[in-house]
Amino acid sequence: MRSFRASRLVGPIPAIGRTIETVTSHGKHLEFVWDDGITLHTYLRLSGAWHLYRHDERWRKSDDQMRVSLEVEDWVAVCFSAPIVETFRQFDRHRHPGFGRTGPDLCRRDANLDECVVAILDYRDPAAPVAEVLLDQQVANGIGNVFRSEVLWDVQLSPYALVGAIDVTDARAMVESAARLLRAHLNDGRQSTAVGAGSGMAVYGRNGQPCPRCSDTIQVKRFGAMNRLLYWCATCQARGDARIAPTPPAGMERPMDPHPAAAMYLSDLPWKRHAEDHEPHADTA
Ligand SMILES: [Zn+2]
Repeated sequence: MRSFRASRLVGPIPAIGRTIETVTSHGKHLEFVWDDGITLHTYLRLSGAWHLYRHDERWRKSDDQMRVSLEVEDWVAVCFSAPIVETFRQFDRHRHPGFGRTGPDLCRRDANLDECVVAILDYRDPAAPVAEVLLDQQVANGIGNVFRSEVLWDVQLSPYALVGAIDVTDARAMVESAARLLRAHLNDGRQSTAVGAGSGMAVYGRNGQPCPRCSDTIQVKRFGAMNRLLYWCATCQARGDARIAPTPPAGMERPMDPHPAAAMYLSDLPWKRHAEDHEPHADTA
């Protein structure tokens, strides 16, 4: 998406440079879903209408009736006179207020990457596939569906790798890759946005095409609780695949405590060290 304007919007504003993944209509209700989980809902009732225009085309209704206008590479979609225009973040159980605050926004240069690494290593459900964990807003805010595919390809990890089996190096690599890709893409988006062919994407939207790394064919599959499209190369992203390398036998899992490497990483973080100054741990003796 190249631009987004909405005169009377209620809710969060979708970021420039993000990808519109789906547009669905249910009668007079229309829904756009962006890859970071923001949904735009418009209700047209009797007076409202969506129009599609080319960039240089004159609108058939006046500017002051415009409620939403959003631009992609070839088109401008304009919603006129809709009585309801609202955005919200897609509800999923991870985002329920009971699950606590959202993770750092990786688009920001001052995002605390260590906090994300810890959230991955200490993830509450060790049996969750990493492809699901990357969409969890409590781990990081803003990775979204496009970049979860790109990040996993970048670090050569299987989307089927279980988060409980991820080591510090991979956790760190995923977070750094996500931050780098998101920031580069969002900066680009301000001048020109292209997602899809020629977009610089390695796997997203490229199913059936050769992998840029190993030339095998890129696959696509609906994945996880939210059933969103995931793209990956099964050849160079086989590492960690829990379907190939089964989970450790009973008694070897770590249901509550982080594994030793994670514990070391955790204890080495500045704010953890600081906390320990005030709260001596029983296990330090
Ligand atoms: Zn490959």
